Amino acid sequence: MLEKELWSKVLVILEEKIKRPNLLTWFKNTAILSVENGVMTVGLPLPMFLDWHVSHYMKNTLEAAKTLEPTIQNIAYLVDTALNEKDTRVIDIHQFSEKTSRKLPNKREIRLPGGIISKMFNPRYRLGNFIIGPENRLAHAASVTVAKYPGENYNPLFVYGGVGLGKTHLLQGIGNAMLENDPNRIVMYTTTEAFTNEVIDCIQSRDMNRFRNRYRKVDALIIDDIQFIFNKDRTQEEFFHTFNTLFDAGKQVIISSDRPPHELSLLSERLISRFESGMIVDVKMPDLETRMAILQNKCQEAQVLISREVIEFIAFNISHSVRALEGILQRVIAQYELEHTTPTIRSVTEIIKQTQKEVKLSNYIERQDAQPKYAISVDDLIQRVSDYYQVPKSEVIGEARNREYMIPRQVIMYLAKTKLKISLAKIGESMGNRNHTTVMHAVERIVNQLKNDRQLLRDLNAIKEETGIS
Ligand code: ADP
Ligand code: MG
Repeated sequence: MLEKELWSKVLVILEEKIKRPNLLTWFKNTAILSVENGVMTVGLPLPMFLDWHVSHYMKNTLEAAKTLEPTIQNIAYLVDTALNEKDTRVIDIHQFSEKTSRKLPNKREIRLPGGIISKMFNPRYRLGNFIIGPENRLAHAASVTVAKYPGENYNPLFVYGGVGLGKTHLLQGIGNAMLENDPNRIVMYTTTEAFTNEVIDCIQSRDMNRFRNRYRKVDALIIDDIQFIFNKDRTQEEFFHTFNTLFDAGKQVIISSDRPPHELSLLSERLISRFESGMIVDVKMPDLETRMAILQNKCQEAQVLISREVIEFIAFNISHSVRALEGILQRVIAQYELEHTTPTIRSVTEIIKQTQKEVKLSNYIERQDAQPKYAISVDDLIQRVSDYYQVPKSEVIGEARNREYMIPRQVIMYLAKTKLKISLAKIGESMGNRNHTTVMHAVERIVNQLKNDRQLLRDLNAIKEETGIS
């Protein structure tokens, strides 16, 4: 097989695995230079491609080549700056993936006044439909302020937190709000990946001015997921200059990351200290109540009615990512609409099990169909648990916050909810008129504690044994 033919076949295979903008950037002006003694030598047009190919594409590239040409055992890279569009060894990557490009029109590009193309914002992400809880209150408040007074107080604004916790939502929300406040503003949202691709592209076409003009004319620049910044001086250099130009001109810069600035080991010191000079806020996983509010809000938006019990069940069990929470709800809604069945805890359990392999459903869910051997009331349970722990019943349902009373108190609420299937409100009532959210928190605390407290587990099993509930 000719080198050129082999390379285009390799690219067809890689196209399945690599996102199109990345393929266009990183495989532009590349070629197979030779295949000799089982080694396929791939030519790269720029030195900066080398690390990236080795760390991101080498494995897949070699695998693809092997399936096409079994004699190939190894891959080598060679930087050859002579590789460009006119080189006959190179295939035209744009023409090559034209099919894909027609399939995916980029609807989000709009032309704003001033002639600069900016990414339009997803209207779904608004500051107004971001549900606030203690874990994201500050991040939301800072976002609102920045959208109102860009370039004034919180510049740059740096938002960090784990995957699926609302960073993109907030960043896009700020962009939407800024444009609402003043449609003539030029607000640019970009991911760090797209930014990097653009830098590389402009370096290749030796047109850095195009790049600089495009970015440095904006009123606000929003860059998502800065942890993906390319580990190469040139991209960081461009970013640093763009950042400084905007910052010095009093323009707002907003950045998100999966970790705080000082943990971004790939970033240069000066960039980190620039980030640290602004406002840094984090988003964490919202607590149970906020998670329920998020789900309820999504149900309202989708105009579906789902029982509070089911909402509580989802929120209770999905505690690592809001995105996962939403994903489950979407499936629940889809099933509801397709099969015209009302979601139940049992049907939702199935969905969670299918989609969230790593989530351990709490016991109370897995055994939800098991009936207690004896009918036992909350009052009975209070008595039995108090006896077991040898503490007075009055203290257990009282207000004292000593550990010796708190544990039995929480255990009662946990068992009443998970085993006796009594409603939160009812449990609260029997437990000295507590609020249903207090009960909810108590249940959650026991569930969490059970993960690593063996003594508690032994006590619970003993109590279950004694009371005959399982
Ligand atoms: P990240 O960028 O941090 O990975 P996203 O912003 O993409 O996370 O959030 C994942 C999903 O969860 C989005 O659909 C977003 O709308 C939703 N989401 C996250 N936090 C909230 C919140 N507090 N209120 C409403 N929706 C949220
Ligand atoms: Mg994101």
